[in-house]
Parts: sequence; C-alpha cells; structure tokens
Amino acid sequence: VSEERLARFLAHAGVASRRHAEELISAGRVEVNGVTVTQQGSRINPESDQVRVDGKLITSGTKQVYLLLHKPAGYVSTASDPEGRPTVLDLLPAELRQLRVYPVGRLDRDTSGLLLLTNDGQFALRLSHPRYSMEKHYEARVQGCPDGRALAALEQGVDIVEDDGGRHHTSPARVRILKRNEQDSWLALTIHEGRKRQVRRMLQAVGYPVLQLSRVGVGPLTLNNVPTGKWRYLTDAEVQHLL
Ligand code: URA
Repeated sequence: VSEERLARFLAHAGVASRRHAEELISAGRVEVNGVTVTQQGSRINPESDQVRVDGKLITSGTKQVYLLLHKPAGYVSTASDPEGRPTVLDLLPAELRQLRVYPVGRLDRDTSGLLLLTNDGQFALRLSHPRYSMEKHYEARVQGCPDGRALAALEQGVDIVEDDGGRHHTSPARVRILKRNEQDSWLALTIHEGRKRQVRRMLQAVGYPVLQLSRVGVGPLTLNNVPTGKWRYLTDAEVQHLL
C-alpha cells in the first residue's frame, strides 16, 4: 500500500478542494491517529491511518457523488472541449471537479435543462443502458404550429436521418401542444430513446424545426427549483430510485 499526501487524501474523500484541504491542515483542524498535523506535505497510509477533520472521521477512497445540473444553453456536455468552449464542468466548484464527475449522457450544446453528473461509473453505465432507458421529458419551441397529422406521426414514430446517413425509426413518443403563438409554438415531448439530436431530428422530420429546446425531466426527476447554471446533490432516495 502506498502512502498519500494528506491534502490529496482529503480532496479525494470529498472534504474540500486540495487548496482548502491544505488550509484545514495549517489551521490545525486535521488529526491523524489522534495527533494534530499542521505540516504541509505530511503523508499518510490511507488503509491504516485514521484521519479526522474537526473530530469527524474521514472515510478513505473517492467519495461518490450524484448531481443534478440545470445546464444552460452554450455549454458542451463533455469533460473537455477541443475548441475550448465552456463545458458543464465549468459550472461546478473545484472540489467537485477534482472528484472527476462527468455527465451521464449528453445534451446538445444549444439545449438547456436537466443533466445528471456522477463519478460512479456503474451508475453512469446503468443509466445509459437502453434496457433501463427512462422517460425523458422535453419542452421545445418550434417554428409554426404542428397540425394533428404531425403530432400523430411523432406519437407513432418517424424516420430520422443519423450522422452516418443511416435511418432510424423512432419509438413512440408522447406529444402535447403547450402554447400556440403566431409564428411559433411550444410543445411538450416525452421519449425513451436518446439518439444524437433526436428531438431536433424528429421535429425536423415532420417539418417543424426546433428553435429552442430544454429537457425538463428525466424519469422521476424534474428541474424543480434549480435555476439555470445551478446544481444540487441527488438525495440517497433519488439515487436508489434511479437504479
Ligand atoms: N434531443 C436533442 O435533439 N437534443 C438534445 O440535447 C437532447 C435530445
């Protein structure tokens, strides 16, 4: 078993960012095996040493976190962007970023709404698997106002063209008109699948291009009181419920 720097151990355990962990050490708030350690660069054995911060025992290993983010449009849902555009990770505090959280599935850069992030690989894999596919609820503003025929087609499934030129027949969706204006309208749309730009392609396929798109719910989760650009932890019950 290798030794580890104390600040690094605390950061991985989700106690604080590495810098803040160093401050906690300097402030005399960290004990190793009952002895206060104030020296920077102190090393510990994560398997056998008992570390406490303000008297609270810290469990070794990377803390698993589950987040619900209200993604604004304009952010990519990948951990890094080759073109240097802002990513959803930029919206998280340093202490969460260093726990290596990443998005579960994706939203287009121009789509806003509910995005889950975690550093639990099993959880991410499970949620992404088609077999566990949950309902995803969207609200879309489209050009024009879809007629009954377009709505029926969306509900039954439409052919969309994918990036490689292949075609896919979408599985049944639920669609409802929320609001009609003169030039555009708002729709509520629920689908199970999650193909690339699926909602945009479905609405394009029936002749009503998307002007604005937001994911308002995934399975039992909704955006509720999370403002754009903000996040919250999922509760234990929510994590259990998703699995
Ligand atoms: N469908 C889309 O077209 N875009 C998204 O971001 C999500 C679903």
